Amino acid sequence: MEIIHVSAECYPVAKAGGLGDVVGALPKYQRELGHIAKVVMPMYRTKFLRENQWEVVHKGYTHLHNYWFNYTVIKEATNKLGFDLYLVDIYGLLDREKIYGYPDDTERFFSFQIAVVDWLAAWSHQPEVVHVHDHHTALIPFMLKYCYAYQKLQGIATVLTIHNAQYQGQTGMEKTVYLPDWDIWKRGLLEWGGALNPLACGIRSAWKVTTVSPTYLQEMRYSAAGLEALLEYEKGKCSGILNGIDTVVWNPATDGYIEHHYSVDTVEEGKKKNKEELCRRYGLDPAKPLITFIGRLVVDKGADLLPQTIEESFYYLGRRMNFFILGSGVAGIEGHLQSIREMSRGDYNTFIGYDEGLSHLIYAGADFILMPSRVEPCGLNQLYALRYGTVPVVRDTGGLHDTVIDYGDPGGYGIRFLHATVGDMTHGIWRSVELFQQQERLRETRARMMQLDFSWEASVTAYLELYQQML
Ligand code: ADP
Repeated sequence: MEIIHVSAECYPVAKAGGLGDVVGALPKYQRELGHIAKVVMPMYRTKFLRENQWEVVHKGYTHLHNYWFNYTVIKEATNKLGFDLYLVDIYGLLDREKIYGYPDDTERFFSFQIAVVDWLAAWSHQPEVVHVHDHHTALIPFMLKYCYAYQKLQGIATVLTIHNAQYQGQTGMEKTVYLPDWDIWKRGLLEWGGALNPLACGIRSAWKVTTVSPTYLQEMRYSAAGLEALLEYEKGKCSGILNGIDTVVWNPATDGYIEHHYSVDTVEEGKKKNKEELCRRYGLDPAKPLITFIGRLVVDKGADLLPQTIEESFYYLGRRMNFFILGSGVAGIEGHLQSIREMSRGDYNTFIGYDEGLSHLIYAGADFILMPSRVEPCGLNQLYALRYGTVPVVRDTGGLHDTVIDYGDPGGYGIRFLHATVGDMTHGIWRSVELFQQQERLRETRARMMQLDFSWEASVTAYLELYQQML
């Protein structure tokens, strides 16, 4: 089977969060099972682009309404990632350093999708499945079905994976003119809540819709940023498939970002050295439990709760732990986390920014990782943490519910709390400190979690079964 993944992110080319990790791994595992899996993404001006070999495979000319543009498709020449990687270049739109965050993101991603469909139409054969990811690529199923110029692609099965329903790409309905001539009777598929809503359009137009954990699928029926009724209506074609992790990239025994490697047999020693390294760099005390957070500093992740939780933990629980935060996002939260550095007595620090290498060192060196998410479709941090023997302290929601069992329950290995509140999180921190003091129990918990299997194998099979159903 030939599967084309179309995405705005793909690790290690360009990554802002979990989407990049998933699209960087899933095709690799599909390939291992003997299928042809390809990834198509925009050609941002990244380090990966500069450091690798490319060949031009297609040049085309198409338009975004009355703006005509040339596009070029290049292919990575050495199959470095274990699957075929294609980048689409559109001069003036995609040739930027960052993935998102530009005022013309709508035009950038609409043009990208149009170019991808235009390129597919130029192929001499057709792939069996086009698998799109999130709103940046969610208009493709609609275009394949209803744009007159691409009618010959109507038979390609399409899957939309929702990695996060909070982001839908809404824009004004006047921008429907951007799409190549389409069947006007299908206008209703583009609109949701009075706006052109690419994610809603993808949910309606794709043959199948998946999201990244079974619990998030259930939660979306009553909490999906306005799409609840649509998801209830389309539930027949929706399923929840848990993300896996790339066990080659995320392996404490071989991780290229850390110096002190370890396995389940040497976890105590290995973590100790990584913790010392991290604490030395950031002025923390390695004798105390190290509680961390990695992620986007946004309300959905519960990052706004961190400053007060840290202050209250110090106040009510005593200065019995260290905190270290890595992230970037909302300026107010960044500023607050930086300002509380003043009260640190060698037990709190933060790095505001994105740093892949530092994140690996944190998974390896931390004792606990906090995830007080209000919304967590799957969450990868807790899966990486488990593999690195770091106890996840999570709010019981979405994919966190599906992957973390509280250590107080039979077979458990994490810490779960119910509400995204300062009180519940502080209680989770208290339980972390208590667990840290019971070294034998902590050792057992680490050994148990490191042997869990959250690899892609099971999920890849679920995706392939889904494709088979459509074919
Ligand atoms: P998201 O909702 O952001 O996609 P996930 O838990 O699915 O959340 O994935 C987050 C991924 O991004 C993980 O690989 C995590 O390590 C990484 N990450 C997030 N923020 C940062 C950061 N500031 N620096 C390095 N890695 C980060």
